Amino acid sequence: MNPNRMSSRLQWMKDELNQLKQLSQGRSLTPAVTLAEGWMIRGGRRMLNLASNNYLGLHQPLDAGLLEKFIQQAAMFDSDVKLGSTASRLINGNDPIYAQFEQKFAKYKGTESCLVFSNGYMANTGIISSLVGRNDLVFSDRLNHASIVDGITLSRAENIRYRHRDMNHLETLLRKADPVKKKLIVTDTIFSMDGSIAPLQSIVELKNKYGALLMVDEAHSGGVYGEHGEGLSHSLGLTHDVDVHMGTFSKAYGCYGAYAAGDSPVVEYLINKARSFIYTTALPPVIIQAVWHNWMKVREGHWRRNDLRERVVLLREGLKRSGFNVGESESQIVPLIIGDNDRTVLFCDYLQQHGIAAVAVRPPTVPDGEARVRFTLMATHLVEDLERALDLIDQAGKKFDII
Ligand SMILES: *Cc1c(COP(=O)(O)O)cnc(C)c1O
Repeated sequence: MNPNRMSSRLQWMKDELNQLKQLSQGRSLTPAVTLAEGWMIRGGRRMLNLASNNYLGLHQPLDAGLLEKFIQQAAMFDSDVKLGSTASRLINGNDPIYAQFEQKFAKYKGTESCLVFSNGYMANTGIISSLVGRNDLVFSDRLNHASIVDGITLSRAENIRYRHRDMNHLETLLRKADPVKKKLIVTDTIFSMDGSIAPLQSIVELKNKYGALLMVDEAHSGGVYGEHGEGLSHSLGLTHDVDVHMGTFSKAYGCYGAYAAGDSPVVEYLINKARSFIYTTALPPVIIQAVWHNWMKVREGHWRRNDLRERVVLLREGLKRSGFNVGESESQIVPLIIGDNDRTVLFCDYLQQHGIAAVAVRPPTVPDGEARVRFTLMATHLVEDLERALDLIDQAGKKFDII
């Protein structure tokens, strides 16, 4: 093929990519290897990892002992450890380990039933597009995760966005809505870009008053909130007020996969309707074994949750003392709001050059003018490493005129 023709055919892509780079909105992939105590090597440089979702420090190397344990466990299920799956769970991929895990996990969540999905993105798109359709209404917090937004788009329901955590706004919108239409309220429990917490109690009151279904996404609260890490709604005593609980095994659980939990008819409905469950190959059973293994550590990980909470206070209060704007953060996700895209990227680059990995979050992930650096904490971070990081962030803040 003539290379010139090729390049002209793709010119529009190159133009768009250049445009993104000029707006400091380009994205690229950098090799990264995780190390102990919240460190990593990224792009060849050793850095303190303040950009991980591995909140409890459970993402760990698979050693020979663990592998041996998985092999023995599989034998108990009359199976052996295989590296893949053979088909969708509805065809012949429903290894017995699934039912056992789902039953026990539902009990832990305090629900009747539970269904494992391949990952959180697929859980959200599958659940939302099953529960609502063309003539229905979804009320969604403006800062909900992208996978929720995509689920609503896929469902073809009307996407009615309310201002972040603004219950007056949500009520106004519910009151204005056609009373006969099916309504779903959906919210993150901990918001991934600003670390704030959803006002679940008030949302439950509104859901009851206006006859809506309620779905919560516990991606960032699972493992972290609740006495045994059951999640935020469980810790608030609201388990039975939520119709669909969704969460992931990819963050505090340090593994991979996701679930939907609720009353039995909800799960049966999802098995029949959720296309991202039906038309995909089952998660390999060995992944369920790994999730199960980490789940036990989550349940018993009181010290991990305590250590995490201490580190959250240390970082957040330290940043506030320096004069940074950490927005409404109340959790292990701590944003440092800068506003301008370029300055945010420069600030983040500076931190990386000095051995701190954090994420520059820019529009469209956050609203225009609210670009930020996003820090996330781990239970396994060393206090002295965080204190050193605070000094460096303070220095960077002065250098870039942010404080
Ligand atoms: C990470 C995340 C997801 C997606 O989960 P994956 O398992 O990574 O696909 C969904 N919702 C929220 C709020 C998340 O933060």
